[in-house]
Amino acid sequence: MAKVSPPPECLFKPMNFPHKVLMGPGPSNCPPRVLGASALPMLGPMHPEFTLIMDEVKAGIKYIFQTNNEWTVCVTGSGHAAMETACLNLLEPGDTVLVGINGLWGERFADMVHRQGIDVKTLHRPTGEVFTFEEIEEALKKHKPTLLSLTHGESTGGTLQPLEGIGTLCHKYNCLLLVDSIASCGGVPLFMDLWGIDCLYTGAQKVLSAPSGASPISFSKRAKEKVKNRLTEVRSLYFDMNHLANYWGCDGEARRYHHTGPTSCIYAIRESLAVLAEQGLEESWKKHKHCAELLYEGLEKIGLELLVKDKSIRNPCVTVVKVPDGVDWKSVIEYTRKTYRVEIGSGLGVLVGKVWRIGLMGYNCTPDNVRLVLRVLEEALRVTRTAKL
Ligand code: PMP
Repeated sequence: MAKVSPPPECLFKPMNFPHKVLMGPGPSNCPPRVLGASALPMLGPMHPEFTLIMDEVKAGIKYIFQTNNEWTVCVTGSGHAAMETACLNLLEPGDTVLVGINGLWGERFADMVHRQGIDVKTLHRPTGEVFTFEEIEEALKKHKPTLLSLTHGESTGGTLQPLEGIGTLCHKYNCLLLVDSIASCGGVPLFMDLWGIDCLYTGAQKVLSAPSGASPISFSKRAKEKVKNRLTEVRSLYFDMNHLANYWGCDGEARRYHHTGPTSCIYAIRESLAVLAEQGLEESWKKHKHCAELLYEGLEKIGLELLVKDKSIRNPCVTVVKVPDGVDWKSVIEYTRKTYRVEIGSGLGVLVGKVWRIGLMGYNCTPDNVRLVLRVLEEALRVTRTAKL
């Protein structure tokens, strides 16, 4: 018999689990109730007890999205999986997509579209700014896209894209509206049906405060029609909404096995949706606004400046703070991590080294956490500045 390679030494040691306070742009810490749910016994993907939990998840997603769309499911994977699902199902060769880019997430979506060989047009704004109604209309007239993609909460720049009226505008130009609400849903007002959003997705690990692994997505009637009337097959079996809608019990037919869903993640998201339902969306929106205002005030008091000047377009879930001149951004992050196990996020894309990002989402969004993050940040600035002298 061939000689078996020895087992890896590392697996004989216990895993290292420091308890960290995750105050970056995601993931958030999970409430014990959600972590507890993820440790519940396994069920098979077609067991009636599990499909009932899937139905409850669906109802919860409809609530947080404020939609009645039949095609409302969780895709298996992190937020990127939801982005891929939207891209793969809603587009086919011959389509033109207009992507609003004011941070990394628009760039990512444009990249996904490009990889499908589909024509991408882009509309740019510096990170930290949002698109105006007028410039969107101009671009719709010019490019005649079949889909417009916008990021509601741009976690790169801390902005919140105003969306009211954009759905109606898109429909006037025969275009579907796709919205990324990964860093905003649950923390700010969002009305999928009322605002005419055709496809909306979010992630589990932000305001929902559940482990990443199952991502909610919903398709309007228009969006569903677009998928149903495709001339070509969806170029992914795994993310094909025709299969997923059946597996999630959205098409009135008997459910067929499609893939083994991430059971523990589905339990966890079921509980996190229950937490949000019990609190109520309006209360959650109020809480995020209140904590964000406390944070803005505190940051100003310690002499820090926010990237987004206009309060009305700030995303309360992710605040982007400018690194002052002469401050070593990395030392500050390392100090808060090593001294207090408080994680603050660094900049992304063009803002690497120029900003920090502070997340206040779901379970982590509390006045106590605001005070904690302000205290450790102030101390880190003082200590790292002194250390340099
Ligand atoms: N879109 C936005 C706005 C995000 O903030 C993120 C995650 N930071 C993503 C998409 C990607 O999600 P994930 O990391 O879960 O794949």
